[in-house]
Amino acid sequence: MPLKKGLQALLKRGQDVSVIDEHFVENHPDAIYTLDLLGRVTRLNDKTSLLLGYTRQDLMNHFKHFVHPDDQDSTVDHFQQVMQGKSETYTARIRHSKGQYLELMIVNIPIFANGLIVGAYGIARDLTTSRLMKQQMDSIQFDQQLVETLPGIALAAFSEEGHLVRSSESFAELFGLQPAQLKTLSNQDLLQRIHPADQQEFREYLELLKTNRCLSSLDIETRLLHRQHGYQDVFCRCAFHQAEHQPQAELTCVLYNLSEHKSLDKQLHAEKEKFLSFQQVSTSAIYRYDITQHKIDFHTRGFENIFDGLLHRHEQVDGIWEKGLILAEDQPKVEASYERILAHHETEVSYRIQHDGAIHWILENRTPISNPSGAVFAFQSVIQDITQLKQQEEKIFQLAMHDRVTGLPNRTLVLEQMAQWIATYSTFSVLTVSYNTLQDINHDFGYSIGDKWLSKTATQLLYHLPTASYFGHLYGDEYIILFPNVVAECSINKICEELLELSKQKIIIDSYEWYPSIAIGVSRFPEDADSAEELVKAASIALGRARANDYSVYSSTFNIETYRRHQLQKSIRTSIRRNELFLEYQPKVNAWSGTIIGAEALIRWQHPVWGRIPPNDFIPLSEESEMHILIADWVLEETCRNINQWILAGLPIVPISINVSPKRLIHGNFAETCQETLNRFGVSPSMLEIEILETDVLFDNSKIQQSLQTLSQMGIKIALDDFGKGYSSISYLQQYPIDTIKIDRQFATTLIQDKKTQSVVRSVLFMAKEFGMDVVAEGVETMEQLHFLRQLHCTTIQGYLFSKPLPKADFERTMQARQIRATEAMTIATNNRTIDASITIQRLNGQDITVGRTDISVSKGTMHSVSFYSTLHLPVHEGIELVLILNQQPIPVRPTQTIELDNGLMEYECQYLDLTQSHLVFQALQSS
Ligand code: C2E
Ligand code: MG
Ligand code: MG
Repeated sequence: MPLKKGLQALLKRGQDVSVIDEHFVENHPDAIYTLDLLGRVTRLNDKTSLLLGYTRQDLMNHFKHFVHPDDQDSTVDHFQQVMQGKSETYTARIRHSKGQYLELMIVNIPIFANGLIVGAYGIARDLTTSRLMKQQMDSIQFDQQLVETLPGIALAAFSEEGHLVRSSESFAELFGLQPAQLKTLSNQDLLQRIHPADQQEFREYLELLKTNRCLSSLDIETRLLHRQHGYQDVFCRCAFHQAEHQPQAELTCVLYNLSEHKSLDKQLHAEKEKFLSFQQVSTSAIYRYDITQHKIDFHTRGFENIFDGLLHRHEQVDGIWEKGLILAEDQPKVEASYERILAHHETEVSYRIQHDGAIHWILENRTPISNPSGAVFAFQSVIQDITQLKQQEEKIFQLAMHDRVTGLPNRTLVLEQMAQWIATYSTFSVLTVSYNTLQDINHDFGYSIGDKWLSKTATQLLYHLPTASYFGHLYGDEYIILFPNVVAECSINKICEELLELSKQKIIIDSYEWYPSIAIGVSRFPEDADSAEELVKAASIALGRARANDYSVYSSTFNIETYRRHQLQKSIRTSIRRNELFLEYQPKVNAWSGTIIGAEALIRWQHPVWGRIPPNDFIPLSEESEMHILIADWVLEETCRNINQWILAGLPIVPISINVSPKRLIHGNFAETCQETLNRFGVSPSMLEIEILETDVLFDNSKIQQSLQTLSQMGIKIALDDFGKGYSSISYLQQYPIDTIKIDRQFATTLIQDKKTQSVVRSVLFMAKEFGMDVVAEGVETMEQLHFLRQLHCTTIQGYLFSKPLPKADFERTMQARQIRATEAMTIATNNRTIDASITIQRLNGQDITVGRTDISVSKGTMHSVSFYSTLHLPVHEGIELVLILNQQPIPVRPTQTIELDNGLMEYECQYLDLTQSHLVFQALQSS
């Protein structure tokens, strides 16, 4: 009953308070109370205290006491209206004994006694619960409307007789109809739209629902006829429901159009099939790792092949990483890779795993995968087993760093060791020990006895060396020994004399025996030089002075070499200004056709006094000052100028490579200089190549790396020169922008007779091909070498066999001809009968000079001339006077002609300044 009516009904019984039926009040479902004129509660029923949770006693208080502070004013207003005879209906928040406020609907009606107002009746009903229910209803309705908007979802309710009572708009869409059209359809019409084959089952379904009304719901999948699309799959969930106060139950149905879902499902299935078959057949090893879950969530068959045997039938792939599979030393690298991936970097990591007692090298390329919010949660990795590659690399390192016969560290390794000693020891001495017999043995007894000779001599020395010393091989039967903390003359003398004692020990090979003749050269650190190269050079100079079974300690007194060096050092500054530098071009050709495919620009210096100076003599000198920068830039400019001229002349140009020292790349911005010079001469970057020497600083220095990257990005090709002299590995090099590898000349020299060289060259070619690099074989001199290289599929050759470096004009003619024929140079037969002598310079360009002597070998003597071999590069012109010292006799001569022999040796022909001395040479040659 509405609240106000209830109270009015109550009051109809009489206006007087005494008239109210006590029983009626107490049993009334609402809270009823009375207030006096001041607003104090005077009476109340149990419902009131039940509703508010107070005792009757507690409620006998002023009504304001229970009203929410914000509602106080309005409640008082209502009360005053009642006191003036009006009935008031209002809501107010009343405090429950537990502290919460209840929202009550209150009706106040004045109480009259004898025509006067004496108080007020109050009746209150809790609105909180009904409000909550209303809110819930609203939410449910809202949810329902929301559900109805879902694509493919439809709602419908039917009466027990099967008539459509209400439906969502989407219900009509299931049949391809407008909602209005739906209304005209009968129950039977709707049923007819079920696929005939499903009719029976659907009727049974309805029957089941009807007879089992207690079921919360029942599902069925059936097909409904759509006006345009024909029969469509529909999922249907129905239940009978009888609402309170409703006379009949309703059949409520939720329908879901499955057609779209099914076609997506099919697509997904097909994709999944494709993916699975890829996973099964892919030989590439790929896996995906979920970093957050520590779990491999995908891997290909190729992955299993790599970890073959580790993935047991019952084992999860994830498990294999947890078994300490990765070697402890490599673990930090792998850990670090996770950090890089989490920072969104694609990461390459190589590590070793131990499996079946063998070590395997694994290379992974990991690509981070992010979730939609951008956080990395997984990575995908392509894996390779690079064990073989690493083994090859190790083999190459061994071959490249150790002498093949003696197994001793080679020159490169020794130099490296010396560099370490320079940093470690305050003093040490360097001994070069030569037996100087190998060439003869090779010549007379063959290479196999020669190899045995090397083993024997190496072993002989090894047994006599203290453990603290370091022993290496230089070349032929020349060795090098380092002694720490020994520089005192007496100590060196003692060591040398002891070693010379070895010459008294017979060396027996097969049925042959020799008493070795040993010569020793000594240099000291830091007294004679402070770099490894220079120390070896000094020891070699000293060795050159020592006779058989003798030793010689390096003396820095001026000799011809140092004098010359000094002179060149002084004049190099003016070389560019005086136009003394020029370039020669050595063609690079196709190994099969001889077609010119490129050329190398090689610098030369025509010195006014010392004649033609080879680059190896002055480039290192230039690097001791800033001069090398000017020279490098000069070479670049001269090359571009020439290319430009050739383009203008219509010549069939080929790319030209220039040699650039790593030092030049450290200084300034060489890439920018290149760009500017190319632009100035209108030369395309593809016509220029940079040859850079393989040195250890090359890849340690970030500036050099940066320069190489920029040059490469500009389109200039980068070639690594003299590969094999140093110790880079190709697999390491592939990280740098290197396009071409030039195999050092020493490999061509020993290619035919040395099996190890062959396997190194083969491996280099194989790996270069793997990494997409070109290979040029340098220093090819014979047809035999060419044939061999052709067999190894080496396509590019640079060497005297095709062409020596050519002056510009000759090179232009050669370019025009486009092809070069291989021609073996005539080898100049050197005279075996030579006599030891020495020379010094006494006058140069009208100046008297005092320098020490340098050893030479006199080879020929005529009435007018004397010839000798020397490694020295001496000037040949009118202005120079030498003194030849033969058997302690000084013989003044002037060099008139020189021939450069291929092994770095020079042969000089000199005229006597005093012809009467010619017999001295004659006699010496005859008695030798
Ligand atoms: P490289 O770059 O390895 O040049 C090849 C050297 O091998 C050249 O010597 C060339 O004449 C020589 N060669 C080529 N084919 C044969 C052969 O079949 N047999 C023999 N015995 N030798 C052959 P070159 O001209 O004396 O140059 C020596 C080195 O000087 C060059 O070696 C290069 O490192 C350096 N160099 C030359 N020009 C420049 C330059 O402009 N700048 C710099 N920084 N270095 C240069
Ligand atoms: Mg070069
Ligand atoms: Mg080279």
